[in-house]
Amino acid sequence: MHIKELVLENFKSFGRKTRIPFYEDFTVVTGPNGSGKSNIIDAVLFALGLARTRGIRAEKLTDLIYNPGHADGDEAGGPKEAIVEVVLANDEGRLSRSQVENAAGTDDVGDVSEISVKRRVKQTEDNYYSYYYLNGRSVNLSDIQDLLAQAGVAPEGYNVVMQGDVTEIINMTPYARREIIDEIAGVAEFDAKKEDALEE
Ligand code: ATP
Ligand code: MG
Repeated sequence: MHIKELVLENFKSFGRKTRIPFYEDFTVVTGPNGSGKSNIIDAVLFALGLARTRGIRAEKLTDLIYNPGHADGDEAGGPKEAIVEVVLANDEGRLSRSQVENAAGTDDVGDVSEISVKRRVKQTEDNYYSYYYLNGRSVNLSDIQDLLAQAGVAPEGYNVVMQGDVTEIINMTPYARREIIDEIAGVAEFDAKKEDALEE
């Protein structure tokens, strides 16, 4: 399963609705410093609910909303909500229709050859709100996380490798490095289940 498309609306430096295609094998994003490359990664972390564990670059959720005066430290004006949609290709059926229906809590999930995970953050006068959607249906973060876990995408996993992670992995003990490989290969899950079984 891979990300097919990312749609950003008023997310960080993306003040206009922006569609970014991702290809199956390899996609490279290039551009000058400060042009928004890392903001694209932040958008993925934000939308898939991986932000807390993988270190999104924002102090508060509302900092993610496009602010035309950002560079000048100006807070006033600008839109009051940001939306990021991650479209995942599921043509190979990695996630079954019933898995998607279960997560969405309804059988009205449309075509599941594409899975849309969308997150919206909305700012009001004195508060902010965050919403998640799965194929257009309103869901909780845990529904998204449970579904993604079934496709091998976990908040504590290594689907997103951040800048510092590489150095960290190099400096690890061989045993700790092996644990990461087990995690990626999906062996760790069975080790945990085996341990649980032996305890019982
Ligand atoms: P580098 O090559 O230096 O890593 P980059 O392409 O990764 O650069 P980003 O860090 O993605 O750049 O983008 C930084 C830009 O995003 C800055 O210009 C910053 O002003 C802008 N930015 C961040 N948050 C907002 C926001 N809420 N509204 C508007 N612009 C924002
Ligand atoms: Mg960057």
